[in-house]
Amino acid sequence: MRLGIISALAEEQHGLIEALESPYKLVHGMREYTAGKLWEIDAVCVLSRIGKVAAAMTAAILVEKFGVTHIVFTGVAGSGDKNVKVGDIVVAEELVQHDFDASPLFPQFEIPLTGLSRFATDRALTERLAGAAAKTTRVHRGLIASGDQFIGKLTQIQALKTALPDLLAVEMEGAAVAQVCFELGIPFAVIRTISDNANDEAAVDFMHFIKTVASRYAYEVIENFCKWR
Ligand code: SAH
Repeated sequence: MRLGIISALAEEQHGLIEALESPYKLVHGMREYTAGKLWEIDAVCVLSRIGKVAAAMTAAILVEKFGVTHIVFTGVAGSGDKNVKVGDIVVAEELVQHDFDASPLFPQFEIPLTGLSRFATDRALTERLAGAAAKTTRVHRGLIASGDQFIGKLTQIQALKTALPDLLAVEMEGAAVAQVCFELGIPFAVIRTISDNANDEAAVDFMHFIKTVASRYAYEVIENFCKWR
């Protein structure tokens, strides 16, 4: 296994790059890729920056240029369900691009020519990530939705929940990585710590959380994931 680890923001990957043994850095396409050994696993860490295009580009380059065989995205997200609280972790079983709508040519959310509106994560990777995360906090598994919007209004998250009743979390990259990995045949998983409730307080909660809890959680979970036997 050669593992690609993507986060959007530096705080979501804090400490991991420093934890890489014999690090080797390469800048490509405005991103810095750091390869090395992470608790004995061959890994490449990179910050994708924010949004679906940024994440898709980063995932494709990890596979095509750095030869990763598996991808994990680790970051924060807004809650999409009343039982999913700030500080909980959501591990994706499926991902959907909530802002994709080519109707009436295709059903809403369906990605043309794939026949799919939801991309499933790799079972084994997801199982292992959820197991690792359970050592840190409460873990939920299910649907994560991604779109090129910060969801920071109650009306926005309510509309998304109506359209996708099983939604657990909203973020801006996961489903893009999912589509790239599906198309390239790469097993992948997505883990998100809940930083806010995607409501009118989301922006303030997000800023506070990202500075305090997010980085510690990401480090702990990835360490336990890598050490998993
Ligand atoms: N103001 C921030 C912007 C961050 S965007 C800054 O300057 O850095 C929010 C990031 O966290 C995205 O990468 C997204 O994946 C995730 N996220 C957290 N809460 C979110 C929410 N409520 N809606 C959408 N994305 C969210």
